[in-house]
Amino acid sequence: MKIAVLLAPREFEVVDIPVPDIEPDEVLVHVAACGVCTSELDIWDGSADVGGFPRYPGHEVSGIVEKAGEEVVGLKEGDPVSVWTTGKGFAEYVAVKAEHCLSAGSVPLDLALGEPLACAVNAVELAGISLGDDVVLIGAGFMGNLVQKLVALRSPRHLIVADTRSDALARAEQLGATRVVNVQSESLSDAVRDLTDGRGADVSFEVTGVQAPLVMLGNVTRMSGKLVIVGYHQGGMREIPLADWNYQAFQIVNAHFREEATIMRGMRIGMRLLTSRRLRLDGLVTHHFPLHEINRAFQTAHEKPKGFVKSTVEINGAGAH
Ligand SMILES: [Zn+2]
Repeated sequence: MKIAVLLAPREFEVVDIPVPDIEPDEVLVHVAACGVCTSELDIWDGSADVGGFPRYPGHEVSGIVEKAGEEVVGLKEGDPVSVWTTGKGFAEYVAVKAEHCLSAGSVPLDLALGEPLACAVNAVELAGISLGDDVVLIGAGFMGNLVQKLVALRSPRHLIVADTRSDALARAEQLGATRVVNVQSESLSDAVRDLTDGRGADVSFEVTGVQAPLVMLGNVTRMSGKLVIVGYHQGGMREIPLADWNYQAFQIVNAHFREEATIMRGMRIGMRLLTSRRLRLDGLVTHHFPLHEINRAFQTAHEKPKGFVKSTVEINGAGAH
């Protein structure tokens, strides 16, 4: 089977290896699509110190069950699934524990993105949004969009979305933001103050992974409100105004998740919402690439051209659409 291996920075190669064998509690999944995750970009361009090459990224897998091990119950050949895996997803097949496969129902497989959904679900759950809350969301990329859609299911009063890109803000507005703020031309804290009678938001999310919006969180949130860090903060040190955050009695929520049980719980909730159409990701995967163009899929995710939300790699055979 074909699999993409990263041999050096920005240098994927598609190679042939044997189809993996499965254990009795595993299934073999014929991969339809594997999303390109922002967390993989620093591995791809060599800026992350991750212990050398070769590497096999790819953890946002969906596909069709090809074969189920003899101990597997509830999954059979032909079932469409969203898969949690820690890598090797840019391949024709993955062998995974059956418990890491969730039904994709009739969701188009390029949109059956259980893994990123799990992160967004867990973040919104941990943030504990209440009915009628005023919510600020900084960052309107793919993960920001997911968080926005999930927060909307909790019926906030104001859902204020901030970013620096006008195309991303136009999309956030389409997705139901009650107010969008381009922080390059407008003060987010002024806008939030106006909308909340000077009080500030109950909960604010940072979904960018960069420094500046972290500081902004504290400027838009009410006393004792929640600051939720969803962005993936790797690389250099980050600074936060802890004296102010401490004085304001903020609840600081680190919405990054590592434990398998937590990830799977978020994924189950996310896929339940997705397969029931309570949540729709239509239009959020904007760029599709075949496996042999995986370098271009990563390059595009890195450059984020106008209108870009997310790229995915589609593997021939299992049919992503
Ligand atoms: Zn991911």
